[in-house]
Amino acid sequence: MPEDLMVGQELVDVADTEVEFQGRPLTMQIGRPRWHAVGDGELTALCGTAQRRLLPIGQPWMSAFPDNVDRCRACEEWIGQ
Ligand SMILES: [Zn+2]
Repeated sequence: MPEDLMVGQELVDVADTEVEFQGRPLTMQIGRPRWHAVGDGELTALCGTAQRRLLPIGQPWMSAFPDNVDRCRACEEWIGQ
């Protein structure tokens, strides 16, 4: 596994949700997180997903994740996991 890989979080299955905030209607985008592998200082995940869609969360990429973490299969294949 390459060293210095970090997690870039992407929101997938995004849908607009209407909420009320301070008495005014507000549209929020709700989704669920998927983790990509991003090289340290890189602008793109290993699978090609652009960083502007990814949120760095300060989590190093691990060789194993809990089952409930949705990892990008393309990034895992690139790493060889
Ligand atoms: Zn990926």
